[in-house]
Amino acid sequence: MRPDPDISALVAEYTALRRQLHQHPEIGLETVQTVSFVKSKLDEYGIQYEDIGVNSLLASISNGKGDITVAFRVDMDGLEISEKNDFAHKSQVEGRMHACGHDGHCTSLLAFAALLSRNKEFNGTVLLLFQSGEEGHEGALRVIEDGLFEKYKVDYLFGYHAMPGVETGKIVVHKGACMASEDRFEILVTGKSGHASMPHVCNEPFAAVADIIKGLQTIIVRKVPSHERGVVSITQVHGGSLRNGIPDSVLVQGNVRTNNESTQNLIEKNVKQIADGVATMYGVEAELDYVRKHPVLVNTVPGMAISAAKRAVGNENVITDMESSMAAEDFAFFMQHTKGCYVWIGNGTDSAPLHNSRFDYNDEILPVVLRFFAEVVREIL
Ligand SMILES: [Zn+2]
Ligand SMILES: [Zn+2]
Repeated sequence: MRPDPDISALVAEYTALRRQLHQHPEIGLETVQTVSFVKSKLDEYGIQYEDIGVNSLLASISNGKGDITVAFRVDMDGLEISEKNDFAHKSQVEGRMHACGHDGHCTSLLAFAALLSRNKEFNGTVLLLFQSGEEGHEGALRVIEDGLFEKYKVDYLFGYHAMPGVETGKIVVHKGACMASEDRFEILVTGKSGHASMPHVCNEPFAAVADIIKGLQTIIVRKVPSHERGVVSITQVHGGSLRNGIPDSVLVQGNVRTNNESTQNLIEKNVKQIADGVATMYGVEAELDYVRKHPVLVNTVPGMAISAAKRAVGNENVITDMESSMAAEDFAFFMQHTKGCYVWIGNGTDSAPLHNSRFDYNDEILPVVLRFFAEVVREIL
């Protein structure tokens, strides 16, 4: 299929709709109003859809007899941040805003639905997935559990994120890892409480906690090969309630990012080894709870995305050598079931960062998204 010659009319309409959506952010899996807005537009275009997951929506458009299915996924949820922008379309809900651009992701896929409904030059099926709960609420897992891959043969899946710091008009495609894994851990260090004046009759946990934290800081520099990337951050330490008392236990929490599974395995092994080793040294208990939240997002068909992107924005505007991000993205769960690619579309070099109280989706990138999606369909169907 080719991009609609009248793309500019869609851009005007969807810029207004995007700004409307920006004013009414919903959080997590509670994207009720956003989903009904999406349904009303799909009804207008006569596109079939069904509810899937928790407040997520799956639309489908078929043409011809082709049996290949290409899916596009966007997210819809906002964040619990108070918006500091003062433009007319600022969030009307105090303490909530679309600080990650999911308002723009959502409306751009709807605009693409409009394009598909009037321009059916493809042979096969296009699925459009509007997903809730991307911001740490496991929205993708709910969609998978609800049978996305049992109900549909999804041959390819594509998604994107508007990316601050990347020029408007440019598309970034990673030839492997694109977004990081995320693991979270807690270590509960338990000794024996007592009076601060008599540590010899207690078994105080703080010295062990200090050594565990110091030990964890050495994993990246001493254990992970220097050509690999990873992050180990301590995020919380809780313990004690008295000025003159030694507590029973102290809780340490941390967050781990990597761009490949072997580094992820290596870090998990070392966190355990350090916690156990230090606990033995001090004669305290160290109970580790290590949870893998997100897998690494690895693009498996970057070649398809690169050629579609080149046709959409020209060879000179496709970047293929940018470092992957250490942020996680739940699109990675879908990629455990099918082939696909997740790209970044430049939100501008003067854009506020993601999750910043002054962030706003750059409406100028909508034509870039539409051309890219249209070229993906042309490439595959
Ligand atoms: Zn986000
Ligand atoms: Zn996001």
